[in-house]
Amino acid sequence: MSDVALLPQVTAFLGRRQGHFIHGEAQEGQGAAFSVTNPATGDTLLTLKGADEAQAHAAMQAAQAAFAPWRDMPTLQRGALLLKLADALAEEREALAQLESLCSGKTIQLARMLEIDQSVAFLRYFAGWAGKINGETLDVSLPSFAGEKYTAFTRRQPVGVVVGIVPWNFSIMIAVWKLAAALVCGCTVVLKPSEYTPLTLLRVAELATACGFPPGVINVVNGSGALLGPLLIGHPACAKVSFTGSVATGNAVNRLATEQGKRVTLELGGKNAALFLDDLSPEEMVNGILEAGYLNQGQICAAAECFWLPEQKMEAVLALLSERLAAMPIGSPLDEATVVGPLANRAQFDKVLGLIEQARAEGDEIVCGGQAQGGKGFFVQPTAIRVASVDSTLMREETFGPVGSFIAYQDAEQALATINDSPYGLAASVWSHNLSHALRISERLEAGIVWINMHTFLDPAVPFGGVKGSGIGREFGSAFIDDYTELKSVMVRY
Ligand code: NDP
Repeated sequence: MSDVALLPQVTAFLGRRQGHFIHGEAQEGQGAAFSVTNPATGDTLLTLKGADEAQAHAAMQAAQAAFAPWRDMPTLQRGALLLKLADALAEEREALAQLESLCSGKTIQLARMLEIDQSVAFLRYFAGWAGKINGETLDVSLPSFAGEKYTAFTRRQPVGVVVGIVPWNFSIMIAVWKLAAALVCGCTVVLKPSEYTPLTLLRVAELATACGFPPGVINVVNGSGALLGPLLIGHPACAKVSFTGSVATGNAVNRLATEQGKRVTLELGGKNAALFLDDLSPEEMVNGILEAGYLNQGQICAAAECFWLPEQKMEAVLALLSERLAAMPIGSPLDEATVVGPLANRAQFDKVLGLIEQARAEGDEIVCGGQAQGGKGFFVQPTAIRVASVDSTLMREETFGPVGSFIAYQDAEQALATINDSPYGLAASVWSHNLSHALRISERLEAGIVWINMHTFLDPAVPFGGVKGSGIGREFGSAFIDDYTELKSVMVRY
């Protein structure tokens, strides 16, 4: 097999000087230079300059200036623009997917189906909220002394400028979650992509401008999060921060935002578990494990990393899983036949290999994989590890890689208690033909989202977010409205 041919517009985009998108225009950076690396080859794709303080300020000012006209635009017009952007992304599907695949190592098939198709679906879903974000009328019980009457109503008003900080694993889709929800509520946005994947959002912002979004409604600034985070969050125009990323950075963002009195939503990582009940066959369990743990080389925040299997099925499951993992085609992410691409960057590659080494040192058993896949890129074999005990590092620390940790249980109730004994709680799944049993377990699993007989599927209508150390707030569904609007009460005497 061979790579898909790069479209001319992708080559042209990479040949342009890239930087930021501020007030409806592409701009070169004035700050420190950094390179974007193709994780499949380790080669530099291009070098760009990050935003300096003045550019961060300019982006916030642009968003602030655009806010009032955007808020006051008829709501359905805002919804129509989101629909136009969805259509533009659908038309640009292949070019965006190729660009994303080059920067992040995501396979071209996943880039098309998840990054782009899902972004289109989320944009259309949020566009559908236009005209439906309502307050309520209230029954006021103040006493009347001279025939006067009272009424009251509430309205939902956009909070203002939203700073959206996004990670590298789904650089378009996660940003679209934030911008679509914010924009339909009447907020404007400044987005800060990861330094590893700064390019695709610039193209999305260009497309938005071509669709008719007014200048300043969507701004993108690139560069170091440690530098830009405080500048954007601390800017007086910032009304809300919506952050997706690691627990450590999320906690720092939370401290900063809270000190500054800014609203904050955090979608963080964790250590997600999948619990397989005894009634399933080994083959059914393996199908579930592959879905839950290995998509996008495991670089999905909601992916399962700890797999709990009934003791008597463990050997059969690991034998079959090893066969299936070893047969997965590893290679160039631009090859349509590839199932396993590289990890997205050198730091992630080193981290995952380091955790595998640590597992070896702690006496965990590497059942299959466990090595880098040679060559120049950041490839790691899909790996299954039977952990020595619940105290193994791999049962607690997020790998964010193609590494499943497997542990046997005798008693499902005991397994459930141990799964819940975690500082995190983003996602979990329970697998069984016995829906009654699975539903009862789902009630007690401590996670923001619990799947039954499925894992990792996200739908714009279903709220998503973590409990405990995995986050604050919810995205999607109707939950986003509270996040991006303030409730205003109006009382009237008449
Ligand atoms: P990081 O937390 O390292 O980075 C996330 C973003 O924060 C990047 O844009 C980064 O910029 C920026 N950043 C870094 N330092 C600061 C700072 N001091 N202030 C403000 N922003 C800052 O996460 P990764 O990009 O490594 O993403 C992987 C992590 O994200 C995993 O732990 C995963 O679980 C989590 N994640 C959670 C999801 C969820 O919905 N719960 C979804 C996807 C990922 P830069 O890198 O340019 O410095």
